[in-house]
Amino acid sequence: MSDEEDEKPRHFHEMELDDRILKAIAKLGWLQPTMIQEKAIPLLLEGKDVLVRARTGSGKTAAFAIPVIQRILCSKKLATEQAIKALILAPSKELCHQICGVVKDLTYKCSREVRCIDIAPQVDLSVQKPLLVEKPDIVVGTPARTLQHLKAGNLNLKKSLEMVVVDEADLVFSFGYEDEIKELMGYMPKIYQAILASATLSNDVKNLKSLILHNPVTLKLEEPDLAPASQLTHYHLYAEEMDKAAILCSLLKLHLIRGKTIIFVNTVDKCYKIKLFLEQFAIPTCVLNSELPAAIRCHSVNQFNQGIYDIIVASDEKSLEDPGTKKEEPAKKSKRKKDKESGVSRGIDFQCVANVINFDFPQDTQAYIHRAGRTARGNNQGSVLSFVSLKEKQLLEKVEKKIRQGENDESVFKTYQFKLNEIEAFRYRAKDAWKAVTRIAVREARLKEIKMEIFNCQKLKSYFEDNPTDLNILRHDKALHTVKIQQHLADVPEYIVPPTLKSLTGIARKGKRKREHFNTSGSSSSKFEVKKSNPLLSMQFEGFKKKKKKQNT
Ligand code: AMP
Repeated sequence: MSDEEDEKPRHFHEMELDDRILKAIAKLGWLQPTMIQEKAIPLLLEGKDVLVRARTGSGKTAAFAIPVIQRILCSKKLATEQAIKALILAPSKELCHQICGVVKDLTYKCSREVRCIDIAPQVDLSVQKPLLVEKPDIVVGTPARTLQHLKAGNLNLKKSLEMVVVDEADLVFSFGYEDEIKELMGYMPKIYQAILASATLSNDVKNLKSLILHNPVTLKLEEPDLAPASQLTHYHLYAEEMDKAAILCSLLKLHLIRGKTIIFVNTVDKCYKIKLFLEQFAIPTCVLNSELPAAIRCHSVNQFNQGIYDIIVASDEKSLEDPGTKKEEPAKKSKRKKDKESGVSRGIDFQCVANVINFDFPQDTQAYIHRAGRTARGNNQGSVLSFVSLKEKQLLEKVEKKIRQGENDESVFKTYQFKLNEIEAFRYRAKDAWKAVTRIAVREARLKEIKMEIFNCQKLKSYFEDNPTDLNILRHDKALHTVKIQQHLADVPEYIVPPTLKSLTGIARKGKRKREHFNTSGSSSSKFEVKKSNPLLSMQFEGFKKKKKKQNT
């Protein structure tokens, strides 16, 4: 911590917060503030400008949301008219949606007094105008969207605004919002309290700091980028593409992966390739990438957080975070328009993720850290399993060099022991299933996803109610070449279960029960109720462990 070393309150109730906020915090089950909340909330309540550097998952959203709500509740006691008091800017629509969700959770006991709207969704400005006319207390939006409303005269912040927050400030710049931020400043009042939250304190953030903050307190949490090894275990395993697919499929079908899992790949096409591949084994997954419309992405993350899906396949959209890469690689990128205001791996709160699987190894250490940061959040345990091809070996070595820990500066990576020859039958099946996912099938799957979005869109739903013929045309416009489902692939007959696992899983027996095919979560009562504290430990073949005693704990 750079400043303010004096004693800070250890509990929320020592922070002189409104009772309604304390009740909401209790409902969320937060027993005590996270480190960043403990430091930032008192400073913000004193009215100071603050620059917060904290890693994703540190609880920084509530660190700024709680003081914002508190300040609004206080000013309401004296206020005579309704006014917009706080503006929260974030670089992507997902983040805006998430921040608004946190504010709503924290104001559930005072939702009439403190109203918050998210203007990030790309609907027509006129749709959001009436919401802004009502002057909600808190407005959340991307810089570009907020500027559009300001220019259209739908928003007037000059008279009433008291607080400005910029979340994930480093991304705000790399998403190309610099000009918008500068322009936005012209619409701000002369005096306001400002908060910048960022995972890194880059030069860009320093520029933003001088633009927005006045004599700020800088909070640099001396936190490592990643949770400690006692909480987050890193495994790696060498395999080429085909074997990666076979191993992934066998781990899932044999229920050796427990809990919610994010599978990361490096391209959007690969997302669909994995989805279609696993679909053939009756393993349902949900896809997340920046080409999908915001509504679908938010819906997917929400459903994942609600436990409707156990597996998300996500492409790490590095180009969105790093404009340099974007400039170098335009030719390689897809022709379909990408959404500047969308990002997948940074800042988005995937809740209670037990495992991160890097099917493709991330392109650099930062990306590895971002992906790994999706798990082991709060006080939860988590694991990262990286599949590494020969080509990717160098990338692993780079990451290994950067993330070392302990007195001996040891590598955090453990070798994940996996006997490929024990899953020969899986390999055989996986090979066919992998080949069946052709480029056409991938393209069709991407189209299908877009179609689904249209069906899901509330606005179009009512349009189709009035124009049913249009709906028929849309439904019949193109036959989808989905990958042919072969029913036998969904089953796990006893003869393909590795000998070392047969006595443990009872999978052959359970295979007859339909639900088992879909259930990779920890809810099964199988003998695999093991090592809940570290889900991926349960992936190791017991028999193998006996043979290689203590080699890999
Ligand atoms: P954030 O860094 O704001 O994205 O928060 C990461 C996660 O931590 C979210 O799922 C929050 O619900 C959770 N969280 C925030 N504050 C606390 C707290 N004081 N205790 C426990 N969990 C928290």
